[in-house]
Amino acid sequence: MKRFTNLSLAVALLFVVCVGSKTQVNAEIPKRVSIIIDDMGNGLKGTEEIFSIHAPLTVAIMPLLRTSKQDALRAEKAGFEVLLHLPMEFFHGKKEWLGPGAITTDMSTEEIKKQVRMDLDSVPGAKGINNHMGSKATSDEKVMRAVMEVVKERHLFFVDSATSSDSKVSKVAKEMGVPFTKRDIFLDNQNSRKAIERQLNRLLNEGIGKGKSIGIGHVGLQGMNTSQAIISFLPKIKKAGVEVVPVSRMVVKKEKRD
Ligand SMILES: [Zn+2]
Repeated sequence: MKRFTNLSLAVALLFVVCVGSKTQVNAEIPKRVSIIIDDMGNGLKGTEEIFSIHAPLTVAIMPLLRTSKQDALRAEKAGFEVLLHLPMEFFHGKKEWLGPGAITTDMSTEEIKKQVRMDLDSVPGAKGINNHMGSKATSDEKVMRAVMEVVKERHLFFVDSATSSDSKVSKVAKEMGVPFTKRDIFLDNQNSRKAIERQLNRLLNEGIGKGKSIGIGHVGLQGMNTSQAIISFLPKIKKAGVEVVPVSRMVVKKEKRD
């Protein structure tokens, strides 16, 4: 009987240890958010304000512009992670809106690869690529395969800005064993400080709830509101025990098995 009691006690203790350690593991899940600022490299409104921020932001720089290279080097010095902001064809609008270095669905695989390489060379230090616009090009498997071949050859990663509900980024990236991730929240679709702070709050809550969330804001029309909202919101993120990390830390790194 005594032996039985001891056994029961041991089982009970084991249960407490297991449940206890499980709680501890859950408590240790890192809570992280990434903030990407798109459309950099062209001196658009808010650029200087973004450069004044002391946090590991990620900046996505447009290729082949007068200030692409300069901004990429400056961003690295500021402690930001750099992405190439690759202009990709979209469904509704004019091709001219894409700017230089754009990838369009009428290009051949070789043309796309050559263009992506040239674009990357104009943004030194880029650790990855995200798409500027791209609703049409990212939903085209052939185009994405060509882009991903260069991502793979340069040992980079791809962040899907998620401008298309039919995006083939994750499908192609998984098939090719290319590291990738996806934007969760657009921060400044509505251009007001209040609306942007609401989106930053959503980003923070997702970071707490899911352990990770990726937000994208912009310089340009919204640039002043976006930069000011981020500056005033950063202390709240810190206070909540959430870390702002470069987007490379959010990337899924699954190598192809065959
Ligand atoms: Zn963009």
